Amino acid sequence: MSARSFVVETYGCQMNAHDTERITGLLLDAGYVQTLEGREPDLVVFNTCAVRENADNKLYGRLSFLAPFKKSNPEFQIAIGGCMAQKDQEEIQKRAPYVDVVFGTHNMGSLPALLERARIEEEAQIEIKESLEHFPSTLPTHRQSAFSAWLSISVGCNNTCTFCIVPSLRGMERDRKREDILAEARALVAEGVVEITLLGQNVNAYGVELGERGAFASLLKEVGSIEGLERLRFMSPHPRDFTDDVIEAMAATPTVMPHLHMPLQSGSNKVLAQMRRSYRRERYLGIIDRVRAAIPHAGITTDIIVGFPGESDEDFEQTLDIVRTARFTAAYTFQYSRRPGTPAATMPDQIDDVTMAKRYTALHALQQEISGEINAESIGARYEILVTEVADRMTGRLPDFRLVHLPLAEGARPGDIVTATITSASPNFMIADEIHELRKTRGGEATACRTEAGSAAIALGMPTLARLKEISGS
Ligand code: SF4
Repeated sequence: MSARSFVVETYGCQMNAHDTERITGLLLDAGYVQTLEGREPDLVVFNTCAVRENADNKLYGRLSFLAPFKKSNPEFQIAIGGCMAQKDQEEIQKRAPYVDVVFGTHNMGSLPALLERARIEEEAQIEIKESLEHFPSTLPTHRQSAFSAWLSISVGCNNTCTFCIVPSLRGMERDRKREDILAEARALVAEGVVEITLLGQNVNAYGVELGERGAFASLLKEVGSIEGLERLRFMSPHPRDFTDDVIEAMAATPTVMPHLHMPLQSGSNKVLAQMRRSYRRERYLGIIDRVRAAIPHAGITTDIIVGFPGESDEDFEQTLDIVRTARFTAAYTFQYSRRPGTPAATMPDQIDDVTMAKRYTALHALQQEISGEINAESIGARYEILVTEVADRMTGRLPDFRLVHLPLAEGARPGDIVTATITSASPNFMIADEIHELRKTRGGEATACRTEAGSAAIALGMPTLARLKEISGS
């Protein structure tokens, strides 16, 4: 029997995207193969998100599209994992009884066994665990990128933001052992990874569970000093736990990129209190002032929610005000979305759609203006740019994470680093017309290795992960 093929559709945040790499790794390890473009898969896995409302609509829309296919082809399987599966298992069974497997955020590792059981027993398998079975990093991973990797240092969250479903779905924060993190980081660099992003729901609270003060700052320094690593990033830090030793570690470690993505959520102290965010605007602004004093070229980005229940025009004005003062290079702005099961969902004074949309548009326009100004100030400046994509043109990221489009440089591959001067700018990206220097890195080599291994595997029809490793010799 030929190997069964699969695709994973991912909704939601970076954590989910990282979980998708683990789901992919698990399935490849279990003998599945990734579906070739244009072919129908034997299995579709949805890695869902419960944070935003339109994620459910999207999922149920996709499921009803697949339902007739499933009916005429019983061998075809559908699995649903992630936060929504953890939260809405009964709802999924009710609305889509033809789904084969529903698994939770704590038991991803069981997916291959559940799929097998569903096939043999011809019955849906629902398995949701309330607490973590394995730290996810101990599961096999198939990274999307050969040169850039996410590394989870903690899972779960001890905060109780009133709009957020994460604590009830992902549980209390669990920190991974420092030696395990360092071992994984070294292994990644040995495989050719040149950029690592440390991940956690509240990444800078790392160490609290272990009772270690300053643990996150010292971890940044230690991971950042691994020979061969070019760029180290982290997300997302919480302003409450943000301490000056982290700023000192960022400034003192050349591989830690001058970029801070720190969610603000609202500029109004009243709304922050209602969101149960335990910092106020003054603290937030104080942190970014100190970051800029220590690292003047740092780019600061953020997340902002508009239309939280009870947000008045004055509250919203406070958000616009902080956006003007902070001058973020970019802000990911969201309209508040009511999530059942969260305290904010039942708060009085929910904001109507028209007001919400008006505020969202105003905030977005202001941020676009600021991003455009900041990017325009970079015209004429020379940067080191990590190449992330090579097609008709190249795309890359500045150290502060801004996006740049570039002309092709002969021999450049994703993972290599070029030096170029910015020639024009718009709010969302910049253009550099001339490349001065190309620095080949082990990241570029790793990309080449993976591309060659991928085409060899397809040609030979032997696409398991084990076989890929044999072919690439890695
Ligand atoms: S800090 Fe707040 S928003 Fe972030 S994961 Fe924890 S509870 Fe959710």
